[in-house]
Amino acid sequence: MRTSRYSAKMRNLCDAARRQKQDRYVCPRCGKKNVKRVGNALWQCRSCEARIAGGAYSLSTGVGETANRVIRETMQQ
Ligand SMILES: [Zn+2]
Repeated sequence: MRTSRYSAKMRNLCDAARRQKQDRYVCPRCGKKNVKRVGNALWQCRSCEARIAGGAYSLSTGVGETANRVIRETMQQ
């Protein structure tokens, strides 16, 4: 049953990627759930206009890693 379990997992990953593309995410800068995907791997917060380079289909490619990078970049501006 290894094959069917594998394909089911792949199907779930594809569904998740599709859903995550349309989801809103919590902004690491202002904390509001208002981050939308505006381009390939580019996300923008509708509240504070912060732009975030994240994953292509999801903002969290490694939750802490991405958030920390964004916070660091935001602080430097
Ligand atoms: Zn924000």
